[in-house]
Amino acid sequence: MGLNNRVILVSNRLPVRVRASAGRVDLEQTVGGLATGLAGPHRERQGEWVGWPGDVARLDATQRLELDESLRARRLVPVQLTAAEVQRYYEGFSNGVLWPLLHSMPTRMPLECRDWDAYVGANERFADVVAERWRPGDLVWVHDYHLLLVPSLLRARLPSARIGVFLHVPFPASDVFRVLPRRAEILRGMLGADLIGFQTFSDQSNFLSAVLRALGVEADVDRLEVGGREVRVGAFPIGVDFAAFDTAGGDEAVDRDLARSAGSAEALLLGVDRLDYTKGIPRRLLAFERLLERHPRWRKRVRLLQVSVPTREGVGAYRELRRQVDELVGRINGDWSTIGWVPIQQLHRSFDNAQLRALYRRARVMVVSPLRDGMNLVAKEFVASRKDERGVLVLSEFAGAAAELSEALPVNPHDVDAMADVLDAALSMPESEQTARMRAMRERLRATDIDSWSAGFLGALAETGQRPIASPLSSAAAGFSRIVTSGPLSLLLDYDGTLVPLALSPGDAAPDPALRQLLGELAALPGVDVHIVSGRAAATLEAWLGHLPLHLHAEHAGRWRPIGAPWGDAPAGLGTWKAAVRDAMRVFAARTPGALVEEKATGLAWHYRRADVEQGAAAGRELRHHLGALLANAPVEVIAGSKVIEVRPQGVHKGLAVGRALECSAGATLLAFGDDRTDDDLFAALPEGSVAVAVGDRPSRAAWRIADPASVRRLLGSIPSLRAGMGKWGAA
Ligand code: UDP
Repeated sequence: MGLNNRVILVSNRLPVRVRASAGRVDLEQTVGGLATGLAGPHRERQGEWVGWPGDVARLDATQRLELDESLRARRLVPVQLTAAEVQRYYEGFSNGVLWPLLHSMPTRMPLECRDWDAYVGANERFADVVAERWRPGDLVWVHDYHLLLVPSLLRARLPSARIGVFLHVPFPASDVFRVLPRRAEILRGMLGADLIGFQTFSDQSNFLSAVLRALGVEADVDRLEVGGREVRVGAFPIGVDFAAFDTAGGDEAVDRDLARSAGSAEALLLGVDRLDYTKGIPRRLLAFERLLERHPRWRKRVRLLQVSVPTREGVGAYRELRRQVDELVGRINGDWSTIGWVPIQQLHRSFDNAQLRALYRRARVMVVSPLRDGMNLVAKEFVASRKDERGVLVLSEFAGAAAELSEALPVNPHDVDAMADVLDAALSMPESEQTARMRAMRERLRATDIDSWSAGFLGALAETGQRPIASPLSSAAAGFSRIVTSGPLSLLLDYDGTLVPLALSPGDAAPDPALRQLLGELAALPGVDVHIVSGRAAATLEAWLGHLPLHLHAEHAGRWRPIGAPWGDAPAGLGTWKAAVRDAMRVFAARTPGALVEEKATGLAWHYRRADVEQGAAAGRELRHHLGALLANAPVEVIAGSKVIEVRPQGVHKGLAVGRALECSAGATLLAFGDDRTDDDLFAALPEGSVAVAVGDRPSRAAWRIADPASVRRLLGSIPSLRAGMGKWGAA
């Protein structure tokens, strides 16, 4: 399913470089992780690719036309940005602020985070272009940290589109992420998507805990509910084009040069990185020097070839890094070189794939030691290139690739001494062990190559967003006045989260005078019944609302009383499981500060709204599992409400209130309001012609949606005047 949908790819850069010469414009395909990775779906899914074409300000009018024509022929859609916009949105906010933060290096952020407005503006421009190109059925796949607001901006423009976003870089621990002045906006931007993809499970859980901390939204492991929609999250580690690196041969000239320059017994250590401060190059150089110090047998026998590809040279931190690296290389070479041997050779340039293959194949040891890296494709390309099953990969624990490449030799890139010893171990590894490790890694990378990555993400995206979206309800909606004036009316109202905001403690949510007055007025209207359908204990509802002419359904309708009548009994047979549940809940409450147990006639509830958000959620999950096992054969249900885990007898649910409401007033239109999962039982039991309204953000089966308790009260408050215009009730 979904395999034939067109795909609109959205990335900061289009996968081409524009070369303009006298009277001509040429497009050159770029290589690199993203460009190569998405070429497959772009070719096969007949979609379009939206992105910035690079700086084309120098092109004259004719060249512009020619460029547009060539882009169109390749199904590439340009988003035009001025040099000033690029400077602020791309260099400023994306690379200056987000890049260091997402790599857990907040101290690299500028003293002031400017350029947010430019980031918003550029993201809006991208969203506008995508919205223009989108057709029903298309999947939209947004890429990386430059465009994190695009999902929600697009959601506002195209409510029913299926939108995915993939973060190629890491997502930091929530304590680091919360440093970002615009943290909530960035998270909300991403949550506009139906599917949010990360490189590793650890990025995924960091994201969910940031969402919990910054927005208070609780999630399951792989999904959460927001804005009346379900958002899926998942880890989709990006792969490499295994076949392209696995092909025989590499660039011959590079290979010849390498063979000639290497002394007979020389071992080659290889590093290939963009010259970025996340890559850990200075510490790697120090570790190499420490290797020479601590393991003298490698002197004159080993050489470090460091390819440092120039990058982001407009950003100060990068110029500073280059100075530091050049200085270290110069000093170490000055201290250690002999007439016939220079220990470190640094190349400030880039190589194409064939040249890289030649380098990868000549290396005895590949050193990949980033301080933090989303994935690190170089590590995977090295493995894919080693058809000979030789060579050793030394890999930082802080690269996303480490999650998959467990046969590499792990290093903590901050520990220079230990890294030196690992380099020694790598250089000394017997060939049989090299082969065993390399073979295992190669098999894994062959099976999880770049095509399986894009197919996996797009397959998951195609399965999301199938749920109909509830329409917002207001008293101005024509539908609403028709519903409330069409004859006898029964209001079925949940209490907490619907009539009053959720309170920190269950005891803190007593009705205020305005609410009591509103309910009294509604209940006094001719032809109108008001039912309160709550999870609260009967005694609480009685104390709070007993004096009003209301029908009360307590404990998820496990107990009820019509206006003025006494309460019915609780269902029998509770004793057998209640004691065990009470004990378990008490144990969990004792070790979760802020959590508490509520005892009801029909069941028990474990509340954790006052607990630390993360601890409460985790303990709640554990309690659910525990109770599930404990109560496997008991006639009860364990349900998760809003910051509450409840156990109640099977067959007791809010849907029971519907039959009673119809007994009280046959033929009435039922209008039901509720905010959490337990209210879905009520909605599900409603007969045709009734109206269900979900309060708040969570997806539900309700056709209508309203923001919060204040809006519910306003809406209910409009009913008396709407019905006043009806004349005698029943005559619509
Ligand atoms: N690369 C290249 N030429 C070079 C050095 C690197 O084409 O001289 C490519 C390399 O093949 C890899 C990408 O650049 O696909 C680097 O990706 P990686 O994930 O390792 O790091 P990033 O630069 O994305 O942080």
